[in-house]
Amino acid sequence: MSFDDRRRNVRSLLFFLVALLGTAVLSFAGSFAGAADRGELTGRRYTPTPADRALPPTVSSAPGPRVALTFDDGPSPQVTPYILDVLAAKRVPATFFLQGEHVADHPDLVRRVAAEGHVVANHGWDHPWFPDLTPQEAESQIGRTNDLLTEITGVRPTLFRYPFGQPSPGGDAALARLGLTGGVHWKWASSKPGDFQCPGTDALVDYVLTESVDQAMILLHDAGDVIGCPPEQLDYLPRAIDALRARGVTFGVVAPSPVRSAVNSGSPAAVVPR
Ligand SMILES: [Zn+2]
Repeated sequence: MSFDDRRRNVRSLLFFLVALLGTAVLSFAGSFAGAADRGELTGRRYTPTPADRALPPTVSSAPGPRVALTFDDGPSPQVTPYILDVLAAKRVPATFFLQGEHVADHPDLVRRVAAEGHVVANHGWDHPWFPDLTPQEAESQIGRTNDLLTEITGVRPTLFRYPFGQPSPGGDAALARLGLTGGVHWKWASSKPGDFQCPGTDALVDYVLTESVDQAMILLHDAGDVIGCPPEQLDYLPRAIDALRARGVTFGVVAPSPVRSAVNSGSPAAVVPR
């Protein structure tokens, strides 16, 4: 091998090493950017209509039927920002049953939920089937989520909704020990499909309007299965709110109550003005 050949070999080896290093740096930078982007908002946003902009800062609570819109499994960057945009534009308070692992991933969205006047409530850490858990696991699901929500919002949640609405003795004992009102259910008296079944906008408006009697807690979602539904389905929310208002319905939030709610499967909670 001549000196020139060797020099060419060294040069191509150097070129190869520089290229390799460059690729490594780029992929490291890429993964770093990916980590920083976890909270990036990827879904639709809602633009207030002229009628929305004409609403007073708070819409007074008329003495008509009062319902609570409740959103489970969030927060998610795909759906929660749109829901919050609509609720803000239409001056509607809501109740969010948040899932601990999603709270850990998107604390800024949790701060926004709290800052915009909604009720922050507990839905467990990772949506387990509570009857399968040991008492210790049940307590960890509830306690860990409540601690994180308290740390992020500065307010200790008082409400818990079981994943799938499925209670367990171990879960009930943990709720009693932790001082939470648990087993907050919902009203679903019709056979109409829910939002997680992706039935589309018209069907969802029909579902929300059908279930909206006085004191009804309406089951909706801002993460989980609804992320897989066509994004246009979210149009149901502004439409349902406008239609309910036109019927004289007002919007409240869920609060603990010593009286069990017959409308909501015996939930130890009531719909109160915010
Ligand atoms: Zn759920």
